[in-house]
Amino acid sequence: MNQSEQRFSIEVENTSNRCAIGETVSNRNIQEKRTPVLSCEGACIKGEIARLAANMLAKEGGFARACHGELFFVPGSAMANWVKQVEKTVLIDGCGLRCHGRMLEGLVDKKNLIQFNALAMHKKYADVFDIDAVPEEERLLAARQVADKVLAALKEDVVN
Ligand code: SF4
Repeated sequence: MNQSEQRFSIEVENTSNRCAIGETVSNRNIQEKRTPVLSCEGACIKGEIARLAANMLAKEGGFARACHGELFFVPGSAMANWVKQVEKTVLIDGCGLRCHGRMLEGLVDKKNLIQFNALAMHKKYADVFDIDAVPEEERLLAARQVADKVLAALKEDVVN
């Protein structure tokens, strides 16, 4: 790993392999001009709520879920092409560490990236790690709250 105080980089083995369904879905999303929705995919409850909220938002018209794995690690994939060519990508990070936001700012034009911090929206579970420590119903409620706030913020931005 190359590391400085401000930035670091990780070397990753390239691949010519592709995910067949990822290619199909991404090419369709390009054609349909859908807005990619990403989450940080963190393994704790905060990451889980961000992931669930991203899934909910992706069901709204004009949006579709993007896969961070292909975007980051399969650079020639249709998934990566889709996210890199759109004018707007929505990212929901689980907390203020912005793990995906910091990474994505090195991959896509920062002005095209609309970033949200799920924890700042639902304000719960700051001291919890385990996903199962929170009942599923509560997880879904918190995620719905985040998805609704993100959608409202995006609509307001379009209107203003
Ligand atoms: S942004 Fe927060 S919740 Fe998401 S992976 Fe990073 S530390 Fe975990």
